[in-house]
Amino acid sequence: MSDTIDLTPMIDGQRADPASHRIITQIDPANGLKSGEFAAAGAEAIDRAVLSSRRAFDGVWSALPPVARAGMLKSLAGLIEANAPRIAAADCRDMGKPIGAGMFEAGMVAAGFTRYYGEAVDKWPRGAVPATDAGAFEMQVRRPRGVIGAIIPWNFPAINLMMKIAPMLAAGNTVVVKPSELSPGSASIIAELAMEAGLPPGVLNLVQGDGATGDALVRHGGIDMVAFTGSTATGKAIMRAVGESTLKPVLLECGGKSPEVVFADMAGQDLDAIAAAILGGAMQNQGQICVARSRLYIEAPIYDELVSRIVTMAKATKAGDPSNPETRFGPLASARQKQIVEGFIAEAESQGGEILCDGRGALAESGGFYVEPTIIGQSDSSARIVQQEIFGPVLAVSRFEGENEAVRLANATPYGLAATVWTRDLGRAHRMADRIDAGMTKIMTAPVQRIGAGFSHSAEAAKQSGFGIEGGFGALDSYSRLQAVEFHYGDTP
Ligand code: NAD
Repeated sequence: MSDTIDLTPMIDGQRADPASHRIITQIDPANGLKSGEFAAAGAEAIDRAVLSSRRAFDGVWSALPPVARAGMLKSLAGLIEANAPRIAAADCRDMGKPIGAGMFEAGMVAAGFTRYYGEAVDKWPRGAVPATDAGAFEMQVRRPRGVIGAIIPWNFPAINLMMKIAPMLAAGNTVVVKPSELSPGSASIIAELAMEAGLPPGVLNLVQGDGATGDALVRHGGIDMVAFTGSTATGKAIMRAVGESTLKPVLLECGGKSPEVVFADMAGQDLDAIAAAILGGAMQNQGQICVARSRLYIEAPIYDELVSRIVTMAKATKAGDPSNPETRFGPLASARQKQIVEGFIAEAESQGGEILCDGRGALAESGGFYVEPTIIGQSDSSARIVQQEIFGPVLAVSRFEGENEAVRLANATPYGLAATVWTRDLGRAHRMADRIDAGMTKIMTAPVQRIGAGFSHSAEAAKQSGFGIEGGFGALDSYSRLQAVEFHYGDTP
C-alpha cells in the first residue's frame, strides 16, 4: 500500500517545477509524526499552469465533440475505480480517513461522479429557443466558461475533487486545480490517471499549496471562473480577492451547521434505527463533513428515550487506526482540528452544556489526533457549539415543542446547507421542507453518500453556506455561460 506520490505540480501533462522554496510539512494524523513534505507552487508555476490551460482550452478541448470528452471521462472513471486502493491509502495517510471509507469514496463516489458526467455530456440540454418576432430566431446556447480555478478542501479529497472537475471538463472547460495542503496525495494520483485516460496536456493542471497558493490562483487574470469548496471564512476571502482583482464568476460551497429535527409522531417507530441514522449523520467522517447534522432538536415527548439510545450508541463507537480496514472511526485530520474541537467542548462544558458523551482523550498514547463522538445537551441556542461549525464529532442536542419552535431553532444560525426532518405527517414534512433554510432537506432518512440516482442530485445552498448549483445537470449549467445568438431572416434587418 505504501506509494511514493509525486507532489510537484502537473502542468501541460508533465511534472513541473513548483518554482518556490516554501515547504509544507505533512503530518500523519494517526500518530502525529512527519509523513512528508512538498513545495507550495509559486506565482510563476501558477502562471505557467493558467497559460497552459488557456492554450488547451483554445487549441483543443472546447472544440472537441462532446462524445470525445465523454469517452475520456469514462476512461478516467474506470481508472479511478481500479486505483481506489492507492487513492484511499493517500487520503488515509494525508488526513486520516479510514481506509474502508476511502475505498468506497474513491471507487464508488469519485469514480461515480466522473462516469455520471461522462455519460451526461451528450444528454445535457445545451440551450433553448424562446419565442421571438416573426422573421427572427434566437438561440440561447451554453458555452464553456474557459479556464476554471478549482479549490478543494481536505475532508473528502477525492469526492470533492471529482464532483467539481468532472462537470467542468464535461462542459468543455479546462481546469487548474488546487487541492488542500492537508490532502494533496489523491489529487496527484488522479491527475496522473487523467493523463492516462487521454486528457490532452493542459486540460487538467494541478498546483499544490495552501491558502496563499489558492489566493494567487483566484486573483490570476487568466482564470475565467473560480469554484471553491471550503469554509465560509475562506469563501468570504475569495469574494474579496475577486473584487480586488479581475471580476469573474464565483461558485462557493461553504460551511454548514445543519439541523436534524425529530417530531414526537415518530414514537412507536424503530427508534434504534433512527438513533443510528442520527448518529451517522452527525459523526460521519469524524464529523468533518459539511452537511453534518450537528444540531439535534427532538420534540419533548420522545426526547429522553431517543437521546438515551443515541448516547449509548455514541459511547460504543471507538476510534481506531485508519489504516486498519476494520476501523470505522479514525482520527481528525490535523492537530489544529483536534484543538478546535476540544476547545469547543471545553467552552460548552464551562458554559453549562451537559456532556452526555465525552470523546476526549481517545487513543492518547498513539500521538494521533483522536476525538471520539461527543454529545452535549445545550438548550441555549446562542451558545457557540450551537451557532458555529465545529467540523468535528460534536453533536448539540436540545428539545422543542411544536412546528414553529422547530423552524425557529433550525433557522437560528447563519448557515443553510442541509437539514433532516423526521415526521410521519406528510403535510408537516412539506411545511418543514418549505420553511427550513437549507440547500438539501432529507425527510426520514440518513444523509448517506450519494450513489446511483444521487449523482443527478442538484442543489444550491442557502444563507452563508454558499451559492451556485453543484451536482447533476445543474453543475453543467454552473460551469457554462448562456449566450444568446439572434438570427434575422425577415424582410427588414
Ligand atoms: P478551508 O476554507 O480552510 O480551505 C479550503 C481550501 O481553500 C483549501 O484548499 C485551502 O488551501 C484553500 N484556501 C484557504 N485560504 C484561501 C484563500 N484565501 N484563497 C483561496 N484559497 C484558500 O476549508 P477546509 O478546512 O479545507 O475544509 C473544511 C470546510 O469546508 C468546512 O467549513 C466545510 O463545511 C467545508 N466544506 C463544504 C462543502 C460543501 O459542499 N458545502 C463540502 C466539503 C467541505
